[in-house]
Amino acid sequence: MSKVFVRRAEYNYAMLRQAMFEIMDLTAGSLIQKNSRVVIKPNLLAPAVPEKAVVTHPMVVKAAVEYVLDKGASPVVSDSSAAASFGRILKDSGIRDAFEGLKVEFREFKTSVAVDVGKPFNEIDIAADAMNADFLINLPKLKTHAQMLLTLGVKNLFGCIVGLKKPEWHFRTGVDREMFATLLVKIYQAVRPSVTVIDGILAMQGQGPGKGGEPRHIGVLMGSCDAVAADIAVCKMLGVAPDGLLTNRIAMGQGPASEEIEIVGELPEVRDFKFPDIVPLVFGPQKFHGFMRRHLVQRPICDASLCKLCGECWKYCPALAIAHDSRKVRFDYEKCIRCYCCLEVCPHGALSARETVTGKITRRLLKI
Ligand code: SF4
Ligand code: SF4
Repeated sequence: MSKVFVRRAEYNYAMLRQAMFEIMDLTAGSLIQKNSRVVIKPNLLAPAVPEKAVVTHPMVVKAAVEYVLDKGASPVVSDSSAAASFGRILKDSGIRDAFEGLKVEFREFKTSVAVDVGKPFNEIDIAADAMNADFLINLPKLKTHAQMLLTLGVKNLFGCIVGLKKPEWHFRTGVDREMFATLLVKIYQAVRPSVTVIDGILAMQGQGPGKGGEPRHIGVLMGSCDAVAADIAVCKMLGVAPDGLLTNRIAMGQGPASEEIEIVGELPEVRDFKFPDIVPLVFGPQKFHGFMRRHLVQRPICDASLCKLCGECWKYCPALAIAHDSRKVRFDYEKCIRCYCCLEVCPHGALSARETVTGKITRRLLKI
């Protein structure tokens, strides 16, 4: 049975460092060898100050780096974001400043290797640095996700898909959430992080995972050698059935992941966490699916008062479904595959996902 270690923590560095060191010692930290190359993979989704809860907090990353240095190994902090340059994310998130004086390398995932993950995807190009690391520490942020409900340990590894290959995969898996979750589980199984430590100190609720979400204090760090077990522990904490998170359901369906986990430490009960409105992307009789997708499923919408016409959303959209004029952005809901990547990359929190009134009524009538 997989163990998940839970420690109360705050962004007080002495306290947090102790909690991180304890979790690492209790999981696989002792396996780090002198001079081994340790890749640390935080969630560096977009440029954002730590108080917005968009990225893994710099102190959490720093504590992991110090643990690796303590073992005499070489830490490399890596991720790949399609939302902005790696340098800008490190600067705006405060990560670069937090590491002054520490011997750490920052290296964006840039090159990929083809990894055979079996059916239905066969080969997936995954960051070479992640695949070749001696030891990989996965440091996700606990956040809501408009498409997948939550982004935690398994989902964080989607960052090992380099740059614009990410929207390509969104496009290939389309509106099929199960297919996208299967892809995420395959990536997780290929990368196999040695340890996952979830930053649930200042989490994100509401319309995450970008700036449209709302920071929510919980005050925990949760670590495990098994990212699925860590994700299940988060579900238990938030009152979500473990298989309510699709990546858990798919991983559990494939074994050996199991809902039975051992929690070591005090898991808080959080029962008023705000989730995004996740409604089925397709529902009802098969012959109506096309129509429903186009007209009834929740869709990205823009708050024009917040939009700065910066162009991030239309540059990133994998379906080329966003147009603009000099006053506002416009969505082509026929083309939109409901991946909600635009919500992730919008630097001004102008986008959210909303179900239409017609969609709500139809779903009630169909009792879905
Ligand atoms: S919606 Fe957001 S990302 Fe798109 S143009 Fe407006 S501010 Fe930029
Ligand atoms: S408009 Fe947004 S949700 Fe629709 S396909 Fe483009 S990025 Fe995805």
